[in-house]
Order: sequence, then structure tokens, then C-alpha cells
Amino acid sequence: MLSLHCKECNYKFTPKKDVIPKTCPFCGKEGTLEKVKPMQKIIDEVIDEMDS
Ligand SMILES: [Zn+2]
Repeated sequence: MLSLHCKECNYKFTPKKDVIPKTCPFCGKEGTLEKVKPMQKIIDEVIDEMDS
């Protein structure tokens, strides 16, 4: 599932479709939204690092 985080106001939310809105729905700033890594992916990457 796609999660987004606003760098401006730290608002976190999940868009209904997998589309990143241009503006933050909370503070209304443009271009401040970034994807939040799913926790499982972070765990997988850590395991990958341990193997190597
Ligand atoms: Zn915001």
C-alpha cells in the first residue's frame, strides 16, 4: 500500500488511488509529498545486508 508523507507539516496519509497528489491535503503546499517506505521493505533490505 502506498503511503505518503508531507515534508512540510509531517502529515501522513494513504491516497485512495496509487496517485501522488500535487499538493498536501493538510497544509496545501505543493511538491512536499514523498513516499513512505513500507515497513516490510525496510526489513527485507536489512536482511539483504546481513546476508552479504
Ligand atoms: Zn503538508
